[in-house]
Amino acid sequence: MQLTVRNLSKRYANGVQALDHVSLTVPPGMFGLLGPNGAGKSTLMRTLATLQSADEGTAHLGDIDILREPDRIRGLLGYLPQDFGVYPKVTAVELLDHLARLKGLVDAKTRRATVDALLERVNLAAVRKQKLGGFSGGMRQRFGIAQALLGNPKLVIVDEPTAGLDPEERVRFHNLLADIASDVVVILSTHIVGDVEDLCSHLAVIDKGRVLVAGEPAALVAAVRGRIWRKVVAKHEAAALKGQ
Ligand code: ADP
Repeated sequence: MQLTVRNLSKRYANGVQALDHVSLTVPPGMFGLLGPNGAGKSTLMRTLATLQSADEGTAHLGDIDILREPDRIRGLLGYLPQDFGVYPKVTAVELLDHLARLKGLVDAKTRRATVDALLERVNLAAVRKQKLGGFSGGMRQRFGIAQALLGNPKLVIVDEPTAGLDPEERVRFHNLLADIASDVVVILSTHIVGDVEDLCSHLAVIDKGRVLVAGEPAALVAAVRGRIWRKVVAKHEAAALKGQ
């Protein structure tokens, strides 16, 4: 299933045009949405996650109209918001079980098996009985991915997931995302180029609510070849080179 966004626009009540005719085609796999703070990434993510409306435009996952059939898409959606809050006094297994119930996994046996498998997958099985309040940022984000994967979603949206992670946790988190992206649309928003360059088969660069470029990373790099240089120089040579 592929995600198709056409001419999506959103202006907030304060007059900010957060999305300005955004069109994107997102195939299964990992898709990077790259842009500076305030570019409109979260607005797009929240709209696709059916949490807010758009002024105009359409978004489809396969034949599902995301904006008009929110209940249909919610059953196929996994979402890790930018600020993923946890109940600090509850254990990992308890909260995941609770969220699984909310997601519709009503059969206790199936639910337990799903929860255990997900905690294993995100490498939190050993700390399943620990309270979430004691989790590190990286552990919390991995827990966030586990809850996003409940119910085998076909569209997974993760909003700035690596902010605040140390380098080791960032790599671990990247590997986890790459692992789930085989037959699912995964959209990862970030302002960090390193998050998308190795990981994403497709990406779009967004700024001021507009898509500036979209495509495969290698093709995008090829398009600017011969126009961008990188060189290591001594500090006293830098000013002269910049002038050229
Ligand atoms: P990003 O996720 O790329 O940082 P956002 O989608 O959060 O960008 O924000 C895009 C623009 O919309 C920013 O200028 C931001 O200040 C503005 N914005 C975001 N949410 C709201 C809101 N609820 N009300 C008014 N303006 C908002």
